[in-house]
Amino acid sequence: MNSNTHIIDQAEAFCAEKKERLTKPRLEVLKIMAESQQPLRAYEILSKLKDVLDLPSPPTVYRAIDFWLQMGFIHRIESLNAYVICHSNHSHPGAQFTICDDCGTVMEVHVDKMMEFIQDRFTRNTFVPVKWNLEIHGQCSSCRLS
Ligand SMILES: [Zn+2]
Ligand SMILES: [Zn+2]
Repeated sequence: MNSNTHIIDQAEAFCAEKKERLTKPRLEVLKIMAESQQPLRAYEILSKLKDVLDLPSPPTVYRAIDFWLQMGFIHRIESLNAYVICHSNHSHPGAQFTICDDCGTVMEVHVDKMMEFIQDRFTRNTFVPVKWNLEIHGQCSSCRLS
């Protein structure tokens, strides 16, 4: 089973459990996100949807993107104004990304030590972090070696 089918299966199970409807736009948006190797902007998702849906309306598409964002299946990369699929368990509170400025590859990284440190600091200062998005720009190893 490839990881895309895996994500769709997870989404089906998730929606059944949460009693959320896995509507056609929601499903197609998630498939597009799962198939993309690169972060996608909302208009790119919309234009890809035109191949599979009749007349997808922008608000419908944006609502579907929002839905998956809220559910943790996709993440928003603020500095690129784009979205990526989550390859993790979809319920982690924060996310860290490395972004290659040469080839555009975005990787989701889980730096547990860093988060422990931050959470520890926040706990002592009585602030409870709910979500965060750490975007680290740089150069990936294949661009560095080329
Ligand atoms: Zn994630
Ligand atoms: Zn690169």
